[in-house]
Amino acid sequence: MAEETIFSKIIRREIPAEILFQDELVTAFRDISAKAPTHILIIPNHLIPTVNDIKASDEKALGRMMSVAAKLAQEEGVAEGGYRLIMNCNEDAGQEVFHIHMHLLGGHALGPMLSQKR
Ligand code: 5GP
Repeated sequence: MAEETIFSKIIRREIPAEILFQDELVTAFRDISAKAPTHILIIPNHLIPTVNDIKASDEKALGRMMSVAAKLAQEEGVAEGGYRLIMNCNEDAGQEVFHIHMHLLGGHALGPMLSQKR
């Protein structure tokens, strides 16, 4: 059984976060350490630790994460200019919180997709 993270507490509103959207499947809130003018995290309400743990039964929530990303991009005014959706999986990608989350980043030119550093 996977261990809950701080994101479960945000979903249940036990700790503060700027929640922008919540329904029966997903929750979206501003990242506490924004890396761009718009930096939102979109997460499923049920715990899936990593992308590797996704099952067919999660597809409805994952689809909702995408449509909520598009809606929030419109609301934030970044849809036309452009934005980036990122999901980090495990150590090489730098995943820090083991409750899957989609980063929505935008609000200025984001530069190359990956750093050239190795
Ligand atoms: P990861 O590196 O796992 O893809 O991203 C985790 C993200 O969660 C980071 O961008 C980090 O700033 C954000 N984060 C971690 N703890 C909290 C928190 O308590 N509240 C909010 N709003 N964001 C958090």
